[in-house]
Amino acid sequence: MPRPILATVHSAALRHNLDRARRAAVESRVWAVVKANAYGHGIENVFESFRAADGFAMLDLDEAQRVRALGWRGPILLLEGVFEARDLELCSRLDLWHAVHCDEQIDMLAAHKTQVPHRVFLKLNSGMNRLGFAPERFRSAWTRLNALPQVEEISLMTHFSDADGARGIDSAVQTFERVTQDLPGERSLANSAAVLRHATRTRADWVRPGVVLYGGAPDYPENDAQHWQLQPAMTLATRIIGTQQLQPGDTVGYGSRFTAEAPMRIGVAAVGYADGYPRHAGTGTPVLVNGVRTRMVGRVSMDMITVDLTPVPDAGFGSEVTLWGNAANGAVLGIDEVAQAAGTIGYELMCAVARRVPMALD
Ligand SMILES: *Cc1c(COP(=O)(O)O)cnc(C)c1O
Repeated sequence: MPRPILATVHSAALRHNLDRARRAAVESRVWAVVKANAYGHGIENVFESFRAADGFAMLDLDEAQRVRALGWRGPILLLEGVFEARDLELCSRLDLWHAVHCDEQIDMLAAHKTQVPHRVFLKLNSGMNRLGFAPERFRSAWTRLNALPQVEEISLMTHFSDADGARGIDSAVQTFERVTQDLPGERSLANSAAVLRHATRTRADWVRPGVVLYGGAPDYPENDAQHWQLQPAMTLATRIIGTQQLQPGDTVGYGSRFTAEAPMRIGVAAVGYADGYPRHAGTGTPVLVNGVRTRMVGRVSMDMITVDLTPVPDAGFGSEVTLWGNAANGAVLGIDEVAQAAGTIGYELMCAVARRVPMALD
């Protein structure tokens, strides 16, 4: 028998969350962002649920090919554009729209031989200082692109650094509006946080929600998934494979990081950092056993964690352990809460589920 660990992807939750994003951005078309293998959920697992989106957006050409292979004929957008000249051949062949964020990408387009002119999203650096043309260089990039026979239509995009936090998007939106005001073309500004928190200010032709589609709150802990009416799209669950009775003074795991203060029973669950469970989760990280909330104790090891069975005296060998997502009894443990206990964000946990973890779709 294989280890009892399983990641289950919930189709109904994916559909619900997509619908939720759509209702928050009523007048916009929705790119379902499926980069990083659909935030760890598997492109093939999410595809049917996201057919109701207007397009799929990702970074990897390989992932774009997989979406086409699944039969998607609608728009696909490469959010970082091409990485080398021959990527443009695939864009022509598979009709991929692509971001253009630097001069080198315009050079490659200018040298590209194609029968079909491309749809491109010209990216403005509105303050994040990662990808995109600086405001004072944006118009000349537009003019240059517009003169290329290889380009059919130019859309305008930017990406926010602070849509989830107190700094907000005002400065970025002002920059975007100032720089693009008299340029034609469709617009795309909002990621998940902007869709939920700044819907009216970022209304545009296209929105680009990612993490919300998978049930992660983009601005946790200020707001959680429940606040935003999002459902977890993934459950990571395993079972208890052993128990220990501890006496006061007994310690648990590598480095003896946890010491029992009273007699207690602990369960050993079959999940560890080699499965993508965060090694930085320490004593106190929430876990559900038989749907009852309890805590991790001691260090996360490669293949196992240890959990406090005090609140679940009936639990034992074979009991259900929910690391995040839905327990059989209907209890829910938010991935964001687990992530916070490990000093990271829900995004990272979703993306980090290891290949050795079998995935099922329900
Ligand atoms: C990843 C990404 C998104 C989606 O971000 P979320 O915070 O997951 O909604 C949107 N736009 C771009 C350019 C991205 O790279």
